[in-house]
Amino acid sequence: MTTNRGRKDVIRDRMAATGESYNVAARNLKAMKDMGATREAVLVQRWSPADSPDVPCPCGGTCEPGETCERCHATYRHVKRYPGSVTDVGVWADRYECRGCPASYTLTVRLADRPWGVAETVIQGGSAEPVVRARVFPGVLHPLLRPETPEGD
Ligand SMILES: [Zn+2]
Ligand SMILES: [Zn+2]
Repeated sequence: MTTNRGRKDVIRDRMAATGESYNVAARNLKAMKDMGATREAVLVQRWSPADSPDVPCPCGGTCEPGETCERCHATYRHVKRYPGSVTDVGVWADRYECRGCPASYTLTVRLADRPWGVAETVIQGGSAEPVVRARVFPGVLHPLLRPETPEGD
């Protein structure tokens, strides 16, 4: 994490280098940071399940070892990861499937440093109540939210 002071210096450096205004430079820097976070988020989600129980899980080892199935005594493997909340961008859901039968289960994991999107507090509608709204990074598949479409701001 950079401090506020460091962030301002970075923005000023960019202004000097590009001739952009403070706001434009700040927005472009934020977009670059979002792109980096987007790449990370897509990597968290895009992998293929391991073929063998002997190799480390391709998700990067941020899951739990698969349990043993009570029905068929095969082990479960981690097969999928997707956003596990509509407002908490650090929460992911891991799906495990049994290697021997159709049984499956899902666990919630928290990857605070690898969010699937950005949470923003917005004032909504006539009630003027602040609500938390999450934007999903482009390329991340969310079971409940759509990826953001460009809005022209
Ligand atoms: Zn895994
Ligand atoms: Zn089973």
